[in-house]
Amino acid sequence: MTAAPHHTEGFTRGRGDGGTDALVILGPGQTDLLRALDRTFTGWGRAAGASEILPPPVYPLRDLEKFDVYTNFPHLAFAAAPLDLEHGTGKPDEGRFRPGDLQAPQLGLPHATCYGAYLYYENTRLPDDTLVTLVNRCFRHEDHYSGLRRLLSFQMREIVALGTYEHTQQVVSRFTERILAFADALSLRMDKQAASDPFFENDGARALLAKLSPVKYEFQVGDLAIASVNTHRNFFGERCGIRRAQDGEHAFTSCVAFGLERWLAVLLEHHGQDAERALQAVDRAAGQAS
Ligand code: AMP
Ligand code: ZN
Repeated sequence: MTAAPHHTEGFTRGRGDGGTDALVILGPGQTDLLRALDRTFTGWGRAAGASEILPPPVYPLRDLEKFDVYTNFPHLAFAAAPLDLEHGTGKPDEGRFRPGDLQAPQLGLPHATCYGAYLYYENTRLPDDTLVTLVNRCFRHEDHYSGLRRLLSFQMREIVALGTYEHTQQVVSRFTERILAFADALSLRMDKQAASDPFFENDGARALLAKLSPVKYEFQVGDLAIASVNTHRNFFGERCGIRRAQDGEHAFTSCVAFGLERWLAVLLEHHGQDAERALQAVDRAAGQAS
């Protein structure tokens, strides 16, 4: 099988009402719905004792490089740079800058939200049962785009556990139940499926462990994964020098990730594209499944 060609030009932007747009501006009804979903997931995190932090939308490349992003996910990556006004014209030509128009990029656009949590706790010691939640804009250079279902830039809410391995697994099972109960209350048919995560592909011991016991489960509605739970063992703890206050060992981590626009896509489909009806369903289900 040959890979589909990557988009290198012509990223389109639309209103999230279907089509193959890479970027969307959500309308008022969609915005209310997305915010209600995010409030619900954040509320679950806060109720479980999570603090909330607010990350930037880009990071120094050096930070993302620490997580093997450019070894394991180079195809997804975007980088950003200021213009080089000494050598370039400072003006786009037919919708694009040429490489010489830019200074060497030193900023990376993240493809997942939880990096912000590991970088926040870098070189610290923390309690065995640390829980934190954050939302960020994530960016993925996908081989195709399809509006809300597959975007170039989307919002991912995460709940991240740091501390003992047991704590990270309790959080995974607690939120697995929560997600399944919420989907049930929304009358969405959801399947939980083991998935592979190329994260550990180049890390021999962890890659082996990942094969022995799945480290990623996805929650699918139809053919769309709208959330995932991920176990990283002590990968991020080691890379960021995060240690447990109790015994000084590297922290274990896990994360629960919600792709907010994908929840929007499946709820809008389920409710005949009626955002207000979908919002009422979310409010009702959030009450039931909390
Ligand atoms: P992952 O880290 O791949 O498990 O991604 C976490 C969640 O982000 C997925 O479960 C999706 O809900 C969402 N997601 C991933 N890629 C995209 C995309 N290109 N567009 C919209 N949502 C996405
Ligand atoms: Zn994550």
